[in-house]
Amino acid sequence: METSDAIIDAGDRLMSVMREYWGYDAFLPLQEEAMRSAMGGRDSLVVLPTGGGKSLCYQVPALCLDGMAVVVSPLISLMKDQVDALRACGVAAAFINSSLTASEKWNVADDIRGQRLKLLYVAPERLSLPGLLDLLESATVSFFAIDEAHCVSMWGHDFRPDYRKLNLLRERFHGTAIHGYTATATEQVRDDVVRQLGLREPEVLVGSFDRPNLTYRVERRDSLLAQIAGVLERHPDESGIVYCITRKEVDSIAASLTGGGYSALPYHAGMSDEARKANQEAFIEDRCRIIVATVAFGMGIDKSDVRYVVHAGLPKSLENYQQESGRGGRDGLEAECCLFYSGADFKTWEFIVNRSDGSPAFKQAQMASLRQVMDYCDAAACRHRLLVQHFGQDLGADCGEACDICLGEFDEVEEPLVVAQKILSSVYRQGEKFGADYTAKVLKGSREQRVIENGHDRLTTHGLLQEESRRAILDWIGQLVQQGFLSSVATDDAGKYNVLKLTQDGWRLLRGEVLPRLLKPATDASSRSQPKRHDPHSWEGVDRELFEVLRSLRTEKANDLGLPPYMVFGDASLRDMARRRPTGADGFLKVHGVGQKKCDDYATEFTTLIAEYCGEHELETDVDPPSATPLSAPKDASRLTRPAGPNESALRAIELFDQGRTVEEVAETMGRALSTTRGYFHEYLRHRRITDPVRWVDAVQIARIEEAIAAVGPKPLKPIREHLGGEVDYDPIHIVAICWQNRHRDDNADATVADHVSHQPE
Ligand code: ADP
Ligand code: ZN
Repeated sequence: METSDAIIDAGDRLMSVMREYWGYDAFLPLQEEAMRSAMGGRDSLVVLPTGGGKSLCYQVPALCLDGMAVVVSPLISLMKDQVDALRACGVAAAFINSSLTASEKWNVADDIRGQRLKLLYVAPERLSLPGLLDLLESATVSFFAIDEAHCVSMWGHDFRPDYRKLNLLRERFHGTAIHGYTATATEQVRDDVVRQLGLREPEVLVGSFDRPNLTYRVERRDSLLAQIAGVLERHPDESGIVYCITRKEVDSIAASLTGGGYSALPYHAGMSDEARKANQEAFIEDRCRIIVATVAFGMGIDKSDVRYVVHAGLPKSLENYQQESGRGGRDGLEAECCLFYSGADFKTWEFIVNRSDGSPAFKQAQMASLRQVMDYCDAAACRHRLLVQHFGQDLGADCGEACDICLGEFDEVEEPLVVAQKILSSVYRQGEKFGADYTAKVLKGSREQRVIENGHDRLTTHGLLQEESRRAILDWIGQLVQQGFLSSVATDDAGKYNVLKLTQDGWRLLRGEVLPRLLKPATDASSRSQPKRHDPHSWEGVDRELFEVLRSLRTEKANDLGLPPYMVFGDASLRDMARRRPTGADGFLKVHGVGQKKCDDYATEFTTLIAEYCGEHELETDVDPPSATPLSAPKDASRLTRPAGPNESALRAIELFDQGRTVEEVAETMGRALSTTRGYFHEYLRHRRITDPVRWVDAVQIARIEEAIAAVGPKPLKPIREHLGGEVDYDPIHIVAICWQNRHRDDNADATVADHVSHQPE
């Protein structure tokens, strides 16, 4: 055992443990590097965005190494969730914090002494109590993992004095490695973490801050409830968060949504602890779909299937936005992040900041952060790119398909120079003494008293943009500020009132020497107020009705066990189940996110249900999708490295098929189930681009099937079979359909999938 272990490469061990316990087949970016450094015993600091998979970075090595890993985690609720989730995967884990009774603590201590634990979660304040440290010293600690490591830094957004005591660890556990994990990207915090934790020449791993599975949208707020409803309509029956700036807004929006028939609950610091806790639990356990909250909500929420995050007002900073919106799509599946803003939010925040007790420098910094958020809102550039830029990284290219700008939900204004000149000359003629709202009024031709008193109804620019909406004019002013043609200058120290002034570039624009870029909501079918719900790759091959049926079973099981549903199976697993439709334990184990323990616990019930459903609906079962990845597929592998293409077993099978073996023979040789081998065979047909099915299907049948394909398309297979009156088996249909697709590959949408398959990771 020892010797064979020693020769197995660490990467293979990590992978096989990850597969066995978590059922994942590929590392997320930097996960393998982070795990290897934990295996190697060198200190490390791992910086990955929310949803980047930080927990597995220490959980998997903890299982591979001797002894027990100690995880320091700041939140009691999070600790319990993590331990519950680990146990659901069959990992021996426990936590010690103030929520345990004396006898529960004693039991955990007993498990530590008996070397029965692989992971122990502790609250930071516990570590300074002598009892626990002594206990740990007598045990074999494989390493320390400091979760949310930025809490040790005063510069972070969430400083916790108890984290400072962690320097004890370095003193008392000289030879034991310490690893820090955080999503906070600034260099200052990073350096501080290294110093405070006393990390020794740590390996520092910083991942990409882009979240490709999130779609970002920004809209100026006009009819907020209708705008929110627009998002909700795109996600019926899915979980989401609506963030508001104030408690009052939380209450009123939650009430309006409930009144409108939505399943929504409020959450803010003004509610009683019990009410807050009850609402949070209802959300986590899927008894309520929408949580309307102030930013007090979210820390310690691990719910992985949040499908949309709405900001009903401006977030405080882009760091906050990244964090709050990042709570969507932690499972790697697509999620939508919409920000509805208005200039008034700026004022609201200003009021809050000024009332807070911070130094003048701190307040100034906060206002500067807010201005960055305004710039982000007004920008006419890819949102992913801007956000990542804010964290000092370069995306290299626009996202292309995951933000309102790239999705073409805006049209370019036809004569941007003329429109911009109208706006700038109005600003100039108004004496550069007024703000955006007022300027928009003048351009719109308002006869408001203030405008008339100022004599601005007689300006040549009065009513020049009469045909345009006030919202559009405000958008353009914002865009001109963001592009540096106008500056928005505070007239007083508190920055209460901003006036617009022309910049040097603004003058060049007036002379027609430079061109601005102005956008307006698209007017065609893909209109901005109702963006299409696009079906991402992650739904490919998924039977949606079966997905819903499985979802109900998941809720039922979760209720029985007192676990949140996402802990039984994530959405990614359910989709993969509804795609593969396994009818036995073998196939069930192949589902994304199904490890040995969950297979033992749930295979029978889920596969029975799948078999029943597929029988009733004449759906093919035990499908082995060759290229479908349950996570949303990145367009470009450089953004997210994920292995693609046939795996090792498939490659071996392909070799055997090359030698002319039949499916039955290959199944026998490789010791695989027929259904699995059939999957390999389909992969072989695609991989070798076989175009003629005549070796496997008789000519008459080919002709009939191809006729049906011509009528209903090459997939899904069910309509083809129906077209043939249900007389032909799925097997020949599948083979003919693949060959047909191979023949039509170049002019077929499938080309993108094919490209993906042939794209090997570096
Ligand atoms: P973070 O702590 O960085 O926000 P988590 O550790 O909570 O991220 O992981 C986010 C989600 O991604 C979890 O649902 C987790 O199970 C899942 N996950 C982690 N690693 C992988 C992987 N290699 N493949 C697929 N999903 C993964
Ligand atoms: Zn984009």
